[in-house]
Amino acid sequence: MSYCAPVAAVRLTSLTKTFDGVMAVDGVSLDIADHDFMILLGPSGCGKSTLLRMIAGLEDPTSGDVAIGDVRVNDVEPKERDVAMVFQSYALYPHKTVQANIEFPLKVRGVAKMERAEEARRAAATLGLTEFLDRKPGQLSGGQRQRVALARAIVRRPAVFCMDEPLSNLDAKLRGETRAELVALHARLASTFVYVTHDQVEAMTMGTHVAVMSRGRLEQVGTPQEVYARPASVFVAQFIGTPPMNVLPVGVVLDRNVLVGIRPEHLELDPSSTVRTTVTLVEHLGHETLVHARLGDTSVVVRLDAIEAAPSVGDDVGLTFPEQHLHLFDPETTRRVDG
Ligand code: ATP
Repeated sequence: MSYCAPVAAVRLTSLTKTFDGVMAVDGVSLDIADHDFMILLGPSGCGKSTLLRMIAGLEDPTSGDVAIGDVRVNDVEPKERDVAMVFQSYALYPHKTVQANIEFPLKVRGVAKMERAEEARRAAATLGLTEFLDRKPGQLSGGQRQRVALARAIVRRPAVFCMDEPLSNLDAKLRGETRAELVALHARLASTFVYVTHDQVEAMTMGTHVAVMSRGRLEQVGTPQEVYARPASVFVAQFIGTPPMNVLPVGVVLDRNVLVGIRPEHLELDPSSTVRTTVTLVEHLGHETLVHARLGDTSVVVRLDAIEAAPSVGDDVGLTFPEQHLHLFDPETTRRVDG
């Protein structure tokens, strides 16, 4: 038997949630295609967890609709929604073996013993857990426990996986490995993934689409490449990319009423430029060098390849802003204005 889930597009329409007058999610409409890997990305408090919890049915919308497939599910209980939720805390049963933990959702459903054992073994194999099936959670590393929690979600064969920062307890190396595993898992399963994170690296490396949120609202939805290459607002421009995009006030770069954005890798040091500045900090990071300078009241960063000669603190340098790399934003709305 293969892991086949039903068609599971998720449609959110004007979804709003307030908590005692605090607006957590503010009129979000979002279409998540069947088998999409949608990342909800934004800073702490932007409402991404609340949005996810409304999809899973753990939070009731104040207004608006949630549909899974073609069915409006506002009034459908979480366990009837065909959604599995994976949190950063794995909530495994400490006295049960890994095998029993993974099987548990099937046991609750009354699946026969042999069948659920087989399903658990298959999910464990998918996540490289076969050799740990007889252990208790306390005998596993954090990353292994996180994978047990994922395996337990997989055996349910949900139409939609809702994941809330599931990797945030893992160290950097394990996080990298588990990111790759999740991408492979998504490719193998026929499920839709909705994944909450504040980590832009997770968003860029795992998502087929990214929904960037700020203050309860959607700022932009697009592929990772689109949100990087054509950010729809100053917020997105500065949230995605490390270091963030330089955004210069009206009049500094162009003689027009626009804010001008340029990524650090596109800003150039140019001895012949008439735009002069003084270097305030040089960071040698091994694979790249970051040169910080001040332009009027604004800090700017230039990213150089490690092999390029870098200036020193206090040096006077010229800057050029290649036209093809400029991003223009409305100073009032801070939304993108160029084509
Ligand atoms: P984080 O990354 O810190 O988890 P988030 O983007 O997931 O943040 P939410 O947890 O969705 O944000 O919270 C959005 C807003 O709603 C915040 O201002 C938060 O304080 C508020 N909020 C969330 N849950 C509740 C609740 N149960 N009662 C009251 N306010 C809440």
